[in-house]
Amino acid sequence: MIKLTVDNTEIEAEPGANLLHTCLESGIYIPNLCHLKEMSPAPASCRLCFVEIEGMDPPVASCTIRIWGSMQIHTDTPAVRRLQKSALQLLLSVHDVDCKPCPANRKCALQDIAKFLKIGLKPKHLQKQLKETRVVEEHPCLDYYPNRCVLCGKCVYVCRQQHDLPMLAFAGRGFDTVVTAFGGAKKTRDACGLCLACSAICPVGALIPKAEAT
Ligand code: SF4
Ligand code: SF4
Repeated sequence: MIKLTVDNTEIEAEPGANLLHTCLESGIYIPNLCHLKEMSPAPASCRLCFVEIEGMDPPVASCTIRIWGSMQIHTDTPAVRRLQKSALQLLLSVHDVDCKPCPANRKCALQDIAKFLKIGLKPKHLQKQLKETRVVEEHPCLDYYPNRCVLCGKCVYVCRQQHDLPMLAFAGRGFDTVVTAFGGAKKTRDACGLCLACSAICPVGALIPKAEAT
């Protein structure tokens, strides 16, 4: 085991362990949306889990770091918070913040991270850009809300773990990227009706079982 210091707290980890995961397991919170312990390599897509490592400049996404020695980590520096706030504001600029009717309200990772970083969910200076489609209802069991989706990829990952054939995938590029389902109505109804792991792992309210949709 290796001893490392995170914000003046000494913790232990196996050499090669994932830094973000080690911190979270040790009770040290670092904002994150796309991290799953099992996902390797880490997608590093949400750009929230920045930390500073002494001897390394600039801050790095902690999900991409393997622990290599007695590192000195700082999770709460001005540079780290600046980067995290920018990443969150970017996400909020394409997010339809309408929490009251959203099934994720009060158990939403975006709300939690915004609170942690002391950012309002509706910053006044933010220029909004929303997709035209509010909800995609083609799936027999699930409704998909593109303007709530943070494109974390967790649903696509768990779907691939559960089924021999993936039923979900990303489609489109850049601002138009969405999660899409394929496989045909009968196949998806059979496979998804008993599963819904994607909806359970979604950190926001983007994939909602039809019975719970608003
Ligand atoms: S996903 Fe979260 S932040 Fe977005 S509308 Fe739903 S509760 Fe609000
Ligand atoms: S639907 Fe949910 S789990 Fe899937 S990519 Fe969007 S936010 Fe992530």
